[in-house]
Amino acid sequence: MSKALPLSVPITLPNGIIYEQPTGLFINNEFVYPKQHKTFAVLSPSTEEEITQVYEAFKEDVDTAVDAANAAFHSKWSTSDPSTRTRVLYKLADLVEENAETLAYIEALDNGKSLQCSRGDVALTAAYFRSCAGWADKIKGSVIETGDTHFNYTRREPIGVCGQIIPWNFPLLMASWKLGPVLATGCTTVLKTAESTPLSALFLATLIKKAGVPAGVVNVISGFGPTAGAAVASHPKIKKVAFTGSTNIGRVIMKAAADSNLKKVTLELGGKSPNIVFNDADVKSTIQHLVTGIFYNTGEVCCAGSRIYVQSGIYNDIVAEFKRAAETLKIGNPFDEETFMGAQASQQQLDKILRYIDLGKKEGATVITGGERLGSKGYFVKPTIFGDVREDHQIVRDEIFGPVVTITKFETIEEVIALANNSDYGLAAGVHTDDLNKAITVANKINSGTIWVNTYNDFHPMVPFGGYSQSGIGREMGEEALDNYTQVKAVRIGLKQ
Ligand code: NAD
Repeated sequence: MSKALPLSVPITLPNGIIYEQPTGLFINNEFVYPKQHKTFAVLSPSTEEEITQVYEAFKEDVDTAVDAANAAFHSKWSTSDPSTRTRVLYKLADLVEENAETLAYIEALDNGKSLQCSRGDVALTAAYFRSCAGWADKIKGSVIETGDTHFNYTRREPIGVCGQIIPWNFPLLMASWKLGPVLATGCTTVLKTAESTPLSALFLATLIKKAGVPAGVVNVISGFGPTAGAAVASHPKIKKVAFTGSTNIGRVIMKAAADSNLKKVTLELGGKSPNIVFNDADVKSTIQHLVTGIFYNTGEVCCAGSRIYVQSGIYNDIVAEFKRAAETLKIGNPFDEETFMGAQASQQQLDKILRYIDLGKKEGATVITGGERLGSKGYFVKPTIFGDVREDHQIVRDEIFGPVVTITKFETIEEVIALANNSDYGLAAGVHTDDLNKAITVANKINSGTIWVNTYNDFHPMVPFGGYSQSGIGREMGEEALDNYTQVKAVRIGLKQ
């Protein structure tokens, strides 16, 4: 398609709301055409039908967006009264809430996730912008007493123009985790959405402008990884790149960053997180957390609890109850209020999950429930539990990124800690027990950036999130997120004696 596509199109959502969906590149607070005027289709994973086309960015458009971000960074934005940034972040949080239903429907339409999930994403997005609003005027350096004839102090300065590349599993929420600290610290950014889910971030861009964010501070572009994404990761004027996605592409980003200008890198990558159940765990609430752990957001969650380990005394009860829970989950139309699991995000993702399910069967694992696609239209997969797995099975080692989980029996704490840590990843882990001593002992020994005790997939804007090992570098949310967007300047002054 060509320039014939307008820069916004009306879309009727399943709730009857008609909204204007931007299709252009958001640069300097305006939606604009890319230089090549190329577009690509955005599909609805639950119907496999085209929702709209959007404009595609290439390297030359990334250059334009970076120039806008660079000019904005050198404007008053990064040096003015921090309460300016507080104010726009609060306003943005309010606007997200005012548009909550529209955003939730856009996200369910574009990603295939259920409204139950997308409403949660919208609420967390607003909460995170609000939390960042509170940080904006609390970024400070310190005075260092060196006991000599010098006065020493540090400043925390914004790092500059950032490049941010986000995935398709939480398109809106990941945009907020990236944009919140940019806005709080006085940085500027070019954010590239995932090619399969560009819609909610483009709509968010309209709210960013309404919130009073100055032109050029936030630029949002749609495009593909090897073209637009690669141009962001290797851009010489970008001082920091933040990426969420697969571990393989994380490596590519890091190389591109190193080879261009050694830009700072933060990566939020894959996982294969253990979810551990001890004999003394409360069965009813644990089952809820196992379900949330692997079936929330159709399992397309980087920290999904995809390896379940259950102590022998409670194993049979947990397997029976977990199977029952999986079989009663409502799967299907994302817009049905009762639906827990919508569609997988793309044909590619559906194919990948089904390949792993086949592989699990070939590896000799037992399908306790599920193990197949649901229906033939829309990318739906039945919640799938594999038993009789070995640690060297690929379904135990690889990130599947779908509603597929393995369940293994263990006897002792030492054994389960070794099993939990037997992974290249280290994003998250769950521990379910009534014994706080045991919980803390295990939490201390597991190599993961997040440990959830008697809960799972349970995020809070004030609590940092990120990976050990090959699950990433840096942290999102919490005070730690701000560290990735600021750099420390030390000033040491020799005083006249
Ligand atoms: P991906 O890593 O390829 O895509 C994530 C983002 O990176 C997208 O915006 C994409 O356009 C961009 N990208 C891709 N190639 C790039 C390149 N060369 N340079 C710069 N940017 C590039 O992930 P995917 O292919 O969409 O999914 C593959 C697998 O990755 C999934 O099955 C899943 O296992 C994993 N994944 C993990 C997360 C997570 O949150 N950890 C998110 C999405 C996917």
